[in-house]
Amino acid sequence: MKWQPLHVPQRTIMTPGPVEADPRVLRAMTTNIVGQFDPSFTTMMNEVMDMLRELFQTTNQWAFPIDGTSRSGNEAVLASIIERGDTVLVPVYGRFGHLLVEIAERYGANVVTIDCEWGEVFDEQVVIDAIAAHKPKIVALVHGETSTGRLQPLAQIGRYCRGNDVLLVVDAVASIGGVDVRVDDWCIDACIGGTQKCLSIPAGMAPITFNERIERVVLQRKKVERGIATADDAQYAGNVAIASNYFDLAMLMDYWSPRRLNHHTEATTMLYALREGVRVTLEETLPVRFGRHAYHAEALEQGLQAMGLSLFGERAHKLTCVTCVHIPENIDGDAVRAFMLEQFGVEIASSFGPLHGKIWRIGTMGYSCRKENVLAVLSALEASLIYAGATIHRGEALQAALHFYAATKEETRCSSLIQSSGMDK
Ligand SMILES: *Cc1c(COP(=O)(O)O)cnc(C)c1O
Repeated sequence: MKWQPLHVPQRTIMTPGPVEADPRVLRAMTTNIVGQFDPSFTTMMNEVMDMLRELFQTTNQWAFPIDGTSRSGNEAVLASIIERGDTVLVPVYGRFGHLLVEIAERYGANVVTIDCEWGEVFDEQVVIDAIAAHKPKIVALVHGETSTGRLQPLAQIGRYCRGNDVLLVVDAVASIGGVDVRVDDWCIDACIGGTQKCLSIPAGMAPITFNERIERVVLQRKKVERGIATADDAQYAGNVAIASNYFDLAMLMDYWSPRRLNHHTEATTMLYALREGVRVTLEETLPVRFGRHAYHAEALEQGLQAMGLSLFGERAHKLTCVTCVHIPENIDGDAVRAFMLEQFGVEIASSFGPLHGKIWRIGTMGYSCRKENVLAVLSALEASLIYAGATIHRGEALQAALHFYAATKEETRCSSLIQSSGMDK
């Protein structure tokens, strides 16, 4: 036989995704298949909706996964609410803002962008002024910008949108399950999460949630597929259908509600994975999980700085789970990354566009966000940099991280988060 059995090396994955899947999630994925209308499966679908509401901190009725990688969630929401010629405002502060622009344009939006330097975020008032000037139907923006490691504050933007009848769509793919994402408190109308980042589930689903404001727009465009429509569905004859069948939220709502109208075949194994990954997240509790992400990122930063490397980006708005660091002068960043992978089995990431070759991005996400991984990435990076001829402080990084771990209790990071977020109420 020409083909060998599947063989995948063990890796320590310290990128901003995909990260190591939680072993409990991988075990759930070996579970047998049941039919998509088997009551055991539809019960699970309802459970997953309940769990997602907790994850998104929302009372929205609608919370379910889109089958596809994270961008499928962005595309489903935008495809279902954009009508040709609608103005969509996208504040861009990194690569994934450009992705929202790209999707909105393809569905016929008149897209207006505002930009800021990569490595910074927008002052919320700047976004509010742009909304006032352009009067968009939709504002779409990224919460945790993975390409630059920044976190955009949203609460004031959300309040302004709600007060001015603008729909706010937020890509929280990189932040969900790793940092606080408050859909209801921040007046987010539609929010998209990702699986392969802080939830430590393989790529392949995008959990989303949306409220009645989005639902209203979607239902005005409702059409039911010819092959399964009933006489009742004739009422939708005059509607202009959503341009995508696969990403049609109106039909997905019929599938994810008691009508259980067949749309696609739900991705059985991925739903098991999502259920287990979100269950594990909620079992840890959100504040403790956010605290863990902050704690290990801090250890990593201390180690990197002790090595003599400098961190990239505006400090106050760091996305805790992605640490960006300048590549030292005269060092080939991609060669060092390849060396780390070959010699140590440790993976870190480069960045995109203007930042490629300038910074590395080190993720501390989900199951990958733990002490042994932080120590492994610091030791591999230090050794690889010395091997490549870089001048760094030798032997300091691991000591700094170890001392941080010895001096600081993880609970302190969790409890300060719990207090500052009001999650203890
Ligand atoms: C990773 C990521 C995406 C894209 O996810 P895919 O799973 O690759 O489709 C979109 N937005 C943000 C902020 C991301 O970090």
